[in-house]
Amino acid sequence: MIPLEIVRKLALDVGFSDCGVSPAGKLGDAGNGLLSWLGKGYHGEMAYMERNLNLRLNPSALVPGAKSVISVILAYGHQEIPLMAHPPRVSRYALMPDYHKVMKNMLFRLLNALREEFGPVNGRPFVDSAPVLERAWAENSGMGWIGKNSNFIHPKFGSFVFIGELIVDAAVEDSSRQHKNRCGSCTRCMEACPTHAIVEPGVVDARLCISYLTIEKRSPLTEKECGSLNGWCFGCDICQEVCPWNQKLLPITNEEVSIIPELKQLNAGNMMGMTQTQFEEWFGITPLKRAGYEKLMQSVSCAVKASH
Ligand code: SF4
Ligand code: SF4
Repeated sequence: MIPLEIVRKLALDVGFSDCGVSPAGKLGDAGNGLLSWLGKGYHGEMAYMERNLNLRLNPSALVPGAKSVISVILAYGHQEIPLMAHPPRVSRYALMPDYHKVMKNMLFRLLNALREEFGPVNGRPFVDSAPVLERAWAENSGMGWIGKNSNFIHPKFGSFVFIGELIVDAAVEDSSRQHKNRCGSCTRCMEACPTHAIVEPGVVDARLCISYLTIEKRSPLTEKECGSLNGWCFGCDICQEVCPWNQKLLPITNEEVSIIPELKQLNAGNMMGMTQTQFEEWFGITPLKRAGYEKLMQSVSCAVKASH
């Protein structure tokens, strides 16, 4: 059995903010929650959420002989920039180099560190790249809890964190426990959500969520959806910004997730006049690329129009 503290130390050495471990297997409650969410159609056009359900509910099948799920988080904290303060607003995580690549590289470094320390360990890193219920595994590992805004919250780093997993065939001492949900009687996120997308504690109807509308929805926005963006053109951080657990964040410790300096110059004027070439130039290495030029331009126009 690999001791938890050693894995944790290796994860922190690689640059992660925290790490927890669960035994590989099925996620009971989280799986039921996913099925109910899908059943109500809250996933909108995200048909991929319906695929590979068996793997989603038991991702250990993704790695032969899987014994442990090592969950890691990387805090990206508060970083004030003009594009977050005024429309068209951009979710802060999107103005950094794409976290998928950053996190995956770090997870490979962690896997190598485990091999150096403990010999042959087979494993596979996951960052949004396969059907893994990341927030549920992070919660299951005892690092924090899933808040009423449906984000994973770490008691020290809040919810502005990227999550990843390393599923390994080695048995690692498990840290999983029921982390107390520390939302208590707070309902700030539910009240602050401008589109009332948080339909019950922990459940977001994606079809109403600005994040979904500006990132995931592939068909053009309807007039009503366009009018509901509340100044955002990519993502939405409102239900995290109001959360008391995000008010005292520690400074970021990993420069790979800091905002790209050139993007701090962007404002409504140059975003509205952006050409396809500028889109590639400015956002080519960021998660914003995912929206694509056409979609982003429609959202920019909706975000700015709604703010006048
Ligand atoms: S991201 Fe924005 S729209 Fe979506 S639930 Fe949170 S506050 Fe509401
Ligand atoms: S705002 Fe309040 S209810 Fe919402 S996630 Fe944060 S602590 Fe929980």
